Amino acid sequence: MSKTADYAWLDGKLVPWANATMHISTECVLRGENVFEGIRAYWNEEQQELFTFRHADHIARLRQGARIMRMAIPYSDAEIEAASLELIRACNYRETIHYRPVVYFAEGELTHYLPSEIRTGFFILAFAMPSKTVQETGVKSAISTWRRNSDLASPSRIKSGANYHNSRLAYIEARMNGMGPPVMLNAAGKVAEGPGACVMILRHGKLITPPVTADILESITRETLMELARNELGLEVVERDVDRSELYVADEAFFCGSGAEVLPMVSIDHYEIGDGTPGEVTRKLQGLYNDAVRGRLEKYRHWLTPVWRGNAVKD
Ligand code: PMP
Repeated sequence: MSKTADYAWLDGKLVPWANATMHISTECVLRGENVFEGIRAYWNEEQQELFTFRHADHIARLRQGARIMRMAIPYSDAEIEAASLELIRACNYRETIHYRPVVYFAEGELTHYLPSEIRTGFFILAFAMPSKTVQETGVKSAISTWRRNSDLASPSRIKSGANYHNSRLAYIEARMNGMGPPVMLNAAGKVAEGPGACVMILRHGKLITPPVTADILESITRETLMELARNELGLEVVERDVDRSELYVADEAFFCGSGAEVLPMVSIDHYEIGDGTPGEVTRKLQGLYNDAVRGRLEKYRHWLTPVWRGNAVKD
């Protein structure tokens, strides 16, 4: 979050940032009971346009997570998209941003309530978020001693606030050890994902990534890169379990996510990956991704929604 936005969208309307508050007794505050999305909108300088990236796919994932949580989202897809655009326009963003639609459980009397016994609310936040320079240099990663949440306990395919306590433990441990984002294994000891991004490796010319049954979030960036790798680089893409030791002999490895984008790993547990600099395929995927998200690849324009075009607010 590089600066505070002018507005947030809370329970049906735009509110000034300072007024976007909720009571300390809400389930959302007390137990992190929410499901959210992290969506990017990319600024295209040549076209002077901001494009949301795969908004509809993110909202479909939000609905999937809410369904597992037995939360009813109180707005339609069209209303959520209109509210997101309304917020982004009100904040007058003409730069790359990240926005977060969040469905949450609010005030309730009981702790083991049914969804009918509690108010379900909705809010959206938007922040400026430029692409990170660490994309160029890559990060030193390590295997976390923390296991990724199991599907039998707190499913990782739900992007719920509560799941990020697990992520934070892993991040903090890595940071205190002087490392970048860690790789988390699942309860079976196979590679799951990073605390906020999925993992991909290149071995023997194939792009390999853990399957959606490996206790990962069903990442939209992962899907995007699998498609770009197959279509644009002619790569064979394999979804299968990945062993810890495979990371140590991978030719290339990277994290991927809406926030992380394509983030090269240059070492894992002090094993240098490749020659210790971001790999060639990683670089190519980075380039393709960066072009696709900014509307520079006509073939993938269906993933984008322009924020400003045809809008009366445009100045
Ligand atoms: N895993 C986790 C735990 C994440 O928080 C994220 C970021 N949303 C991802 C993977 C990547 O998902 P996406 O590509 O949809 O942003």
